[in-house]
Amino acid sequence: MGEQHIVIAGAGHAGGRAAEALRAAGHTGRITLIGDERHPPYERPPLSKELLAGASTVEKTYLRPLAWYEDAGIHVRLGAAVREIDARAQRVRLSDDSELPYDALLLTTGARPRRLKIAGGEGPRVFYLRDIEDSLALRERLVPGARVALIGAGFIGLEIAATARKRGAAVTVLELAPQVLARVAPPEIAAYVTDLHRRHGVEVLTGMVVTGIEDSGDALAILTASGERFAADIAAVGIGAVPNAELAQLAGLAVEDGIVVDAMGRSSNPQIYAAGDVTRHFNPLFGRAFRLEAWQNAQNQAIAVAKIMAGGTEPFAEVPWFWTDQFDMNLQTAGPPGPWDELVWRGEPGERAFTVFHLLEGKPVAVTTVNNTRDMRFARMIVGRGQPVDRKALADKAVKLQDLAR
Ligand SMILES: Cc1cc2nc3c(=O)[nH]c(=O)nc-3n(C[C@H](O)[C@H](O)[C@H](O)COP(=O)(O)OP(=O)(O)OC[C@H]3O[C@@H](n4cnc5c(N)ncnc54)[C@H](O)[C@@H]3O)c2cc1C
Repeated sequence: MGEQHIVIAGAGHAGGRAAEALRAAGHTGRITLIGDERHPPYERPPLSKELLAGASTVEKTYLRPLAWYEDAGIHVRLGAAVREIDARAQRVRLSDDSELPYDALLLTTGARPRRLKIAGGEGPRVFYLRDIEDSLALRERLVPGARVALIGAGFIGLEIAATARKRGAAVTVLELAPQVLARVAPPEIAAYVTDLHRRHGVEVLTGMVVTGIEDSGDALAILTASGERFAADIAAVGIGAVPNAELAQLAGLAVEDGIVVDAMGRSSNPQIYAAGDVTRHFNPLFGRAFRLEAWQNAQNQAIAVAKIMAGGTEPFAEVPWFWTDQFDMNLQTAGPPGPWDELVWRGEPGERAFTVFHLLEGKPVAVTTVNNTRDMRFARMIVGRGQPVDRKALADKAVKLQDLAR
């Protein structure tokens, strides 16, 4: 790409890492990084953990201090949104109505929280969590004795519940599905996580269809389809995220729950690439496309795509990986989203630490470790290979995963 001007829309985790990687890969042309937040690119995992707990600072979430980008010749425009892409003229229009031409465009616009579309779902005591300001505003309300209703028991919801509890709040989790982590975890792991939360004093209620939130001015009543009313001081909502793909869609790019890109990060327009939470990307290891919301994908897909934009030829092909920390539990999963028809346990679901492989038609398609990080490296390799495995050996803790990964 030589002296070409690369514009990056979205100055989050993927956008920031891509800008760095473009320079590291030898791109000498202009780079403009445009972000609608007022912070330089930052990592979001602390927003539901250390930052929310009050154990870390805003600055510690930043990938780099702002001055680093200028020193690297990366022009950062914060507080500015890309409003429109003119793909034919290769130009973007910003929220201040200025226009910027590009030779290549990288979309790293991420995702936003799915909203609760019920009466009262947007009131001043109802909190959603995606950015630093959300985390700081919620933190202020997590005081000893505060009654917090947590709507949605996905990873982010449960992390908020754990942090709120640590700060002394009284927490009730209301989940629609019959179990927590319904989209990702088998019932045994859901039971383990539920038990963990209950042991720490969180009330976990499943099968709860929240139908409305009443705000009396100084408290909330959370209403359910079965007629219950839960009193709370605030509600926090964690019911998933939707990709910020409208910009791409309006520009005529292929979008299907995310911007459709190939393993090189290329969209349906040859000058436009995308990376991070906003993409539905093809992964050659698994021969199919999916969308992820995970730190590893934001970081490594962005770096891989930046190298390609700088002239590289190596596709992005990694086994997806995700972690969550709740109380004293570290849970990690690896493998693309998708079904399984069999579980192979290494250890027992009742133990403090265990690993479970998810198999589909006899082949490992995913793995989950609970307090068992050391299994993850080779377990991921086994999932990446996708070959049928000897179940007995896989379940036998005396057999090294390292030997099975070969
Ligand atoms: C609270 C929380 C906790 C998390 N914890 C974990 C964890 O423990 N483990 C894990 O693996 N993952 C975790 N994640 C997921 C991980 O943080 C995300 O996958 C990652 O941030 C995605 O990076 P991204 O750059 O694609 O999107 P983002 O980081 O969301 O960045 C996108 C940026 O683009 C901006 N933007 C959007 N539209 C425009 C526009 N039109 N113009 C300009 N700017 C725009 C957005 O405001 C945002 O700043 C967590 C996420 C959250 C929210």
